[in-house]
Amino acid sequence: MQINKLRQQLETNNFNFKKRYGQNFIIDENIINSIVSKANIDANTLVIEIGVGAGALTTKLAHYAKQVLCYEIDESLKPILDTNLKNFNNIEIKYQDFLSVDLKEDLKKYSYQQLYVIANLPYYITTPIIMKIIEENVNVDKIVVMVQKEVGDRFKAKPNTKDYNSLSIFLNYHFDIKKILDVSRNVFLPKPNVDSIVVEFTKKEKKYQVKSEKIFYQLIKDSFTQKRKTLKNNLKNYDLKIIEQILNKYNMNLSFRAEQIPIEIFVDIANNIGEVYDK
Ligand code: SAM
Repeated sequence: MQINKLRQQLETNNFNFKKRYGQNFIIDENIINSIVSKANIDANTLVIEIGVGAGALTTKLAHYAKQVLCYEIDESLKPILDTNLKNFNNIEIKYQDFLSVDLKEDLKKYSYQQLYVIANLPYYITTPIIMKIIEENVNVDKIVVMVQKEVGDRFKAKPNTKDYNSLSIFLNYHFDIKKILDVSRNVFLPKPNVDSIVVEFTKKEKKYQVKSEKIFYQLIKDSFTQKRKTLKNNLKNYDLKIIEQILNKYNMNLSFRAEQIPIEIFVDIANNIGEVYDK
């Protein structure tokens, strides 16, 4: 939809943008086309869209996908969406807070070969949304999301950079992550204070061989408890002798900090220690 038409429609419906919901709608059709074409959706794909706005991305997704399951927290968008999406019979909108839905339950009635999440995310809850998608274990094949540039950089962070943290390890454990698009703040209504990037998460074909995810996740969490402290300090409750032996294999030792340790070394450590309980 053209920008003037969208503006007019929002005015006619007395729609007020709500900052608390992170409402910045895309007004550049080229960006939308670019996201959709890079996502490679086909007729067997079920797409989940979180945060529909006025439906600019939704109609394009519906054009290529088998079905689009959408979540939108702001029910005052309903009259606008009823108009903009009326020509599509493969879109379902649930006016709910995505963070509180039972995704597994909602997906039960759909049949599909691939499951994608494609969205221009509300920036105030980017990380909780991505964590929910992973933790609900619904077997997502691909996630393509527009996020605030700084946040996206953190997702792709490598060891020895300031952005490398437990979240980047967690995400890189599950997915191959790459930036697919830079997006200027000028293509949104209203214009936000930050630029954005579109990031693609593709399910890892060759997963790391982790014996117990529970132990692995706990180790990562504990290693980063205090980012500036050494592993020796953060992992006091662990068998430090074993951890030291493993680190030595890689010319490292307990005086290293978690932000210096690549994911495969964490995997090696996790596979050689037992469950750790608070002392
Ligand atoms: N997809 C639209 C677009 O690109 O123009 C809108 C994107 S806008 C950045 C984010 C959307 O997410 C808003 O429509 C907002 O109301 C919605 N939203 C915010 N919090 C939400 C939540 N917890 N669950 C579902 N939708 C949410």
